[in-house]
Amino acid sequence: MADADVYDLYAVKYATHQRKAAANFVNPVDPHEAWPIDYFVWAAVSSSRTFVIDTGFKAETAKKRGRTFLRCPTEALALIGVDAKAVKDVIVTHFHYDHIGNFDLFPAATFHLQDREMAFATGRHMLNPKHGSSMNVDDVVGMVRHVYGKRVRFHDGDADLAPGISLHHIGGHTAGMQSVRVMTKRGRVVVASDAAHLYANMETRNPFPVIFELDKVLAGYDRLKALADSPDHVVPGHDPLVLKYYPAVSPKLAGIAVRLDAAPTRGRG
Ligand SMILES: [Zn+2]
Repeated sequence: MADADVYDLYAVKYATHQRKAAANFVNPVDPHEAWPIDYFVWAAVSSSRTFVIDTGFKAETAKKRGRTFLRCPTEALALIGVDAKAVKDVIVTHFHYDHIGNFDLFPAATFHLQDREMAFATGRHMLNPKHGSSMNVDDVVGMVRHVYGKRVRFHDGDADLAPGISLHHIGGHTAGMQSVRVMTKRGRVVVASDAAHLYANMETRNPFPVIFELDKVLAGYDRLKALADSPDHVVPGHDPLVLKYYPAVSPKLAGIAVRLDAAPTRGRG
């Protein structure tokens, strides 16, 4: 594999939410236990290409939904040297409000998404508040506009975007939920996004309670592990432990940005 096909991989935190375990698990052990979640965007950077994975939400969305907004996701990316304005490829793991806001701040990007997610977000399931309430309609409409602007690349299932970067349709959480596998210097790392919100969802097979198809959520946990080089190569989408387990990009960015291409300090396997 050429050097250009091995990526540095980052997780960058842009928001957080104090909540109880009841909001994170179908069957919480203690529903009243404090169990905060973090909000991230991710970036895979090689000597020749940059892929941004998800684009986060805006301050106004945070306010509406009671989330603690720490920094614009594009400012978060700037901290690790990624200029949103120059990014050519954005992978959209799914259409929930915390993953597809801000795409207007990526003027040069093509957006990679699953056929099934666009159909899901614009079809009958959105009549059900259980699914529709996790979408921001303006973001969905914005993405439809990008379709007409020819800035969307649709994928139907798994796809290789470039040597070392592949998409994997998982479903479950939403119909078109996809995770991203990235070749790094420590091997193949899977950015699960919301195919696994927290380590504990995956490890105890006790899913996050926003579910489209439960059997696919559970099968997805197995799939993530099968795709990655080890259980320690699977990175959940909202777990504050990610910032504890992985080394900070620099001392200044401790608690904000970590290197997922470096081994975690504490194994989960
Ligand atoms: Zn999410």
